[in-house]
Amino acid sequence: MRDHYHGTPWTTDVAIIGAGPAGLALACALAPLGLRIGLVERQPLQALAEPAFDGREIALTHASLRLLHELGIAAHIPAAAMPPLRTARVIERDVARELQVHAAGTGHDRLGSLVSNRTIRTAAWQAVQALPDVQVHAGATVDAVHTDARAAEVRLADGRVLRAGLLVAADSRMSQTRQALGIAADIHDFGRHMLVCRMRHEVANDGVAWQWFGDGQTRALLPLEPQLSSVVLTLTGAEAQRMERLDDGAFAGEVERRFEHRLGRMTAVGSRHRYPLTTVYARHFVATRAALVGDAAVGMHPVTAHGFNLGLASVERLAVAVADSLHRHADPAHPRALASYQRRHRRGSLPLFLATATVARLYGDDRTAARPLRRAALEAAAGLAPFRRALAAGLVDDGPVDPRASDRVRNALQWLRPG
Ligand SMILES: Cc1cc2nc3c(=O)[nH]c(=O)nc-3n(C[C@H](O)[C@H](O)[C@H](O)COP(=O)(O)OP(=O)(O)OC[C@H]3O[C@@H](n4cnc5c(N)ncnc54)[C@H](O)[C@@H]3O)c2cc1C
Repeated sequence: MRDHYHGTPWTTDVAIIGAGPAGLALACALAPLGLRIGLVERQPLQALAEPAFDGREIALTHASLRLLHELGIAAHIPAAAMPPLRTARVIERDVARELQVHAAGTGHDRLGSLVSNRTIRTAAWQAVQALPDVQVHAGATVDAVHTDARAAEVRLADGRVLRAGLLVAADSRMSQTRQALGIAADIHDFGRHMLVCRMRHEVANDGVAWQWFGDGQTRALLPLEPQLSSVVLTLTGAEAQRMERLDDGAFAGEVERRFEHRLGRMTAVGSRHRYPLTTVYARHFVATRAALVGDAAVGMHPVTAHGFNLGLASVERLAVAVADSLHRHADPAHPRALASYQRRHRRGSLPLFLATATVARLYGDDRTAARPLRRAALEAAAGLAPFRRALAAGLVDDGPVDPRASDRVRNALQWLRPG
């Protein structure tokens, strides 16, 4: 890829802005195509090599685990740092029957694996270190971006200029690159915050994840070790801020009470982290010589735990489009290839994004008139074995990212079969 489109001299083939998990994974996916990658990140090198714990425990589906293996990232994650998720429970106050989704019967020992975001970032960083054609510009501030039919240009505040064949925005849900490219996005603020913290508890969690609605709050539990879980509370901003400031003893007491002492005595381990709940869906995923991946394209509500799973799907879809573009046009960013990426990622992400937003609205606010509706929905879902099997099958399906229509029908028929 040295003799470029229209003979334009590029200093790099692909410029990626944002070395978060999506940007790093994309570098791992594109480098084997023989492309030179420039990764621009505002955090310093040290923060990339040793990222701080941020409270996020990422529930990875089998498709994501497969891709992390293929990209050489999973090789840097110790098995002990990937605890299994065997069962998921959805509990609603006053609803006798809870929804349970089990790995048993799926042919897998787990629905997915829980891996901390810090571990994913560290592993992805280590994988990138082995790629000679990836140049990292850390601690960098982007001054301006410009793209036209000949090249994409990234100007850094220190005067450096990257001229590339393709520019990728991987700079999170409030992406400045997306804005600079003039791509609009639908942004929704749920008026809630998520407070996350690891906690030890007396009663074992049995590898079961909880999602518990009611009493004006949402509580979730993610099992990390038999007596260690990540606790996730969805609260108003003021409540989340108040709880964030409590001392460890008072905080643990309040979490015990909120979990109705079902886990016995609890103790806080490490730091607490608070995230405002805002979702983003970009109106376009591509522009001239540019594409969006990860949260910059689709910033999900975490309630269905699919943000990074979709981010990895965007990486795989873009890498396929770029490979095809190189093969057919000797150019990483032919408009037809980018359009195909946009089509595939929209088709693969919009239904899940809309379904998640509906769940988040229905279950997120106890003051809404939606309580009878969501109780009925949960009762019905809990009673429908095919629905539970479909949920489990969706998690353990390890790809391809976009199954053919015939495979979708075959899978659907399989879920509907009794037993
Ligand atoms: C509480 C919580 C729980 C979650 N749980 C799950 C889960 O269970 N399963 C799941 O799949 N997903 C989950 N997610 C979502 C997941 O964390 C995100 O989808 C994922 O981190 C997005 O990765 P990214 O690389 O796109 O963005 P980010 O992780 O935000 O990384 C963006 C990078 O770009 C850099 N950057 C930003 N702006 C610029 C700029 N202007 N110039 C240069 N660099 C820039 C940032 O410093 C950062 O390094 C959860 C999220 C939260 C908040």
